[in-house]
Amino acid sequence: MSYSQLSPHLFVHHDHVNTGIIRDGTHVLLIDPSGSSLQETLDKLGITQIDQIFYTHHHRDNTTGFNLPDNVHIGVPAAEEQWFSNVESFWNDSKYRWHLYSCHPHNLMLPRSIPVSDTYSEGAEFNWGPAVISVLDTPGHTDGSVTYLVDIDEELMAFTGDLIYDEGKIWDIYSLQKGQQTTDYHGFLGARDELKDSLDKVKQKSPKVLIPTHGEIIDNPDAAISKLFNQIDICYDRYVSISALRHYFPDMFTEFRDRDDHMQIRDGKPPPEFLRHIGTTWIIISDTKEAFVMDCGSHNIVTQIQQMQDDGEISNVTQFWVTHYHDDHVNGIPEFQKTYPCETITDSVVADVIVNPKAYRLPCISPAETRVDRITQDGDSWQWNEFKMTAYHFPGQTYYHGGLLVEGKNVRMFFSGDSFTMAGIDDYCAGNRNLLGDGVGYDRCLKLIKKLEPTHIFNCHVNPAFDFTNSEINFMLNTLSEREKCFTNLIPWDHANYGMDDQWIRCYPYEQEIVCGKEFSIQVQVTNHSAEPRPLIAQPIVPNDWGVDIPQKEIKIEPKSDGYIDFTIPIPKIVSNKNESTRIVIPFDITYNNRPLGQFREAIFVVNGG
Ligand SMILES: [Zn+2]
Ligand SMILES: [Zn+2]
Repeated sequence: MSYSQLSPHLFVHHDHVNTGIIRDGTHVLLIDPSGSSLQETLDKLGITQIDQIFYTHHHRDNTTGFNLPDNVHIGVPAAEEQWFSNVESFWNDSKYRWHLYSCHPHNLMLPRSIPVSDTYSEGAEFNWGPAVISVLDTPGHTDGSVTYLVDIDEELMAFTGDLIYDEGKIWDIYSLQKGQQTTDYHGFLGARDELKDSLDKVKQKSPKVLIPTHGEIIDNPDAAISKLFNQIDICYDRYVSISALRHYFPDMFTEFRDRDDHMQIRDGKPPPEFLRHIGTTWIIISDTKEAFVMDCGSHNIVTQIQQMQDDGEISNVTQFWVTHYHDDHVNGIPEFQKTYPCETITDSVVADVIVNPKAYRLPCISPAETRVDRITQDGDSWQWNEFKMTAYHFPGQTYYHGGLLVEGKNVRMFFSGDSFTMAGIDDYCAGNRNLLGDGVGYDRCLKLIKKLEPTHIFNCHVNPAFDFTNSEINFMLNTLSEREKCFTNLIPWDHANYGMDDQWIRCYPYEQEIVCGKEFSIQVQVTNHSAEPRPLIAQPIVPNDWGVDIPQKEIKIEPKSDGYIDFTIPIPKIVSNKNESTRIVIPFDITYNNRPLGQFREAIFVVNGG
């Protein structure tokens, strides 16, 4: 690790993040201290006393791993104080665990609280040693991020957090997921205007350099910022161009109306008369009057199916298919399964989430545990009355999603779950893992549709059926490959998916119950989105007072595939003496392709007290 000197009294330590070091003799003020290598730099500089620490924002990667000295003053953004001093209120509140339509605050929360002495917001100004420091509220990367303007040695330097990584680049794309007119769920790149306003504000102060938390020290702020604005605009345009969201919320896209280079939105067509659509559920009624049901989002759906039975419209439900794990498709399944104990069928990737939802932390996830009787692999077929069913893994709206082709009565119907509308593709929540690239994500889905040539495509939220012409499919495929390029240009990684997919490193299971004095396993799963093999080093960080160090492990992951490392973690005899259940956050320190990422992903251990 290294450091650079920007002026007589200002240094920057470079590890997985940049740490600002303002020196006054043997005393320092630190901005975003993180990681154990910082101590070496402080030793080299002959520092004996840390007076003050400032954090730009509440993420775990810029705040953990450096041993905080006792009695140091810690200053944090006022708007994020809770996520430093009482982060347990995040981990212990089920609204941040289930039915996630909001993603603020963010991923990468601190594992445990730290003591906060001061909070800062717009306009705060103070002197410390050779520096005058003033604060700008600069939301975007997180809601409460601040920029510290440091006037030192007759220059103005800006510590901008993760607003910008380098010229035209940001550290990741998924942190900008934010609702504008509806929930965060619909807000892909939704914080882009906020980010731009914040960078404009910084620009107006004319700092000599920008020092980002992640990234390169930026010597030409104006050029770096204008290039970023330009890149974000190109990316957002390529997103809107084929977005299914234009069907649901046209008012979100008024500035793009009448763009004839975007995909045109066609009308739908009536579904065949043997189908019923209630809530998010599609029902196929056979000539035998048996019903094939897809998804069950609520009690109300069960009631309506019973009514159809009472009215003699159907005789019974004889098979049940689940399109994907989202709560508005599965919340009612436990009750449905009691009422209609027929065979439940779903894709293998979906099955693992709905059978064991605690193992995952995903958008819109339901805690409802579902029974699955038959798990399908891509391409499995079976006959149901006069219809031939073929199941596919269909990573459209989410990676954890299936598709079902139903052939019979002279139609070829494709039940796409939530994956399309007549306006295009449904990829407006980065947390759903919409991967870009040949043969994955929507590229795979669109190529399948092209091959299967369904006469009718169905979405669970849309009444009419629809289809796509070959030229529409090609337009969507081309736009996706343009996106792959421009999203890659926006981030400091060799593939767009590292910026899109916040679960490219994940822990499995995400959450598990543990018993004191026993050993438990966690697997770190990694998706290598690059075209070359990549080495990964991972190490679980258990609480200091456990007195154990779990050694790091290393693996090499093949290109465009998943890799797995298993850890066994011994739980000390007593980790909680309280009578209530306690959630322990176990972050993993990650180095990927020789790039240290700090404490990146986490798993949750639940200790039941009593
Ligand atoms: Zn951050
Ligand atoms: Zn959905």
